[in-house]
Amino acid sequence: MACYSTEDSEIGDIRVDELESLVFVAGGRGGYRPDLLLAKMTNVEAEMLVCNCCNGITWEACITDELHKTGCRDCLKISGLNARPWEKGRKLVEGLACKCPLDMRGCAWTGHLRDLGGHWDECFKRRKECTLNCKQIIAQDCIAAHVQRYCPNRAVTCQYCGKIVQARIISNHEANVCMEIPTPCPKGCGYQVPKKSVSAHIQTECNCVGIPCVFREIGCDVSVNRGDMQEHLLEDCPQHLTQLMLEFKKMTGKYEEAMRRIEGLEREKTIMKKQMADRRGIYEKITSDESDDAMN
Ligand SMILES: [Zn+2]
Ligand SMILES: [Zn+2]
Ligand SMILES: [Zn+2]
Ligand SMILES: [Zn+2]
Ligand SMILES: [Zn+2]
Ligand SMILES: [Zn+2]
Repeated sequence: MACYSTEDSEIGDIRVDELESLVFVAGGRGGYRPDLLLAKMTNVEAEMLVCNCCNGITWEACITDELHKTGCRDCLKISGLNARPWEKGRKLVEGLACKCPLDMRGCAWTGHLRDLGGHWDECFKRRKECTLNCKQIIAQDCIAAHVQRYCPNRAVTCQYCGKIVQARIISNHEANVCMEIPTPCPKGCGYQVPKKSVSAHIQTECNCVGIPCVFREIGCDVSVNRGDMQEHLLEDCPQHLTQLMLEFKKMTGKYEEAMRRIEGLEREKTIMKKQMADRRGIYEKITSDESDDAMN
């Protein structure tokens, strides 16, 4: 049964949150936990300040009129006893020296119970949700390091393309999205080229791609890897030259043949020119004879 209403968002100075049970006994429903105190209470103190109902150190200490019984405000109320605030008891409780309940997580704070609430709000060992929404609950003093170095939602820069992506997707970005990541040539030449340039590399510079010999037009059907072309040209130089010579002779024959045809055509042209000149002479003579006749 609750010693105080669970609807309250604040109990004295100490906020109700998931760590409430670290400050109060009975799962957060009773007085202060005795193990928060730095020094053991004297028997007299314990007699006066420990609540008989919850065995915690009285919270909002009250005292009953009839029996002068002391205890937590709500513990006494639940017991059905008429009680009034007990100022002296409250002051004694507030003055007790205590430590932070998160000392087991490394908080070294110590002070008086009256100041525990104020410290509680600022305690760096309290856990909060990550500010980058990764849903992890982290001690406040570790959030900065988490956000900078470990949070899966932190922004990281791709070392290859410079794009900024979330850390949790960087490996997928590198494996499947980034076009600048160095990629080994699939033909096995040993070169690494940016992913976007792989096909251009294969087409224009990869030494492990077979290409036809530059003397293909004159009959060398050999196809060698681009890297071996120089060697092939040196090795097969005599064959290439022989083929070149044969091709040259073929071309020379064709050239001579063409020249002969041109000369023949030139001759025909001269003959035709002469024939035309003769015909013009005859025509002019006839037309001048006809005009002489007309004048006579
Ligand atoms: Zn109590
Ligand atoms: Zn603390
Ligand atoms: Zn995070
Ligand atoms: Zn990238
Ligand atoms: Zn290659
Ligand atoms: Zn060749």
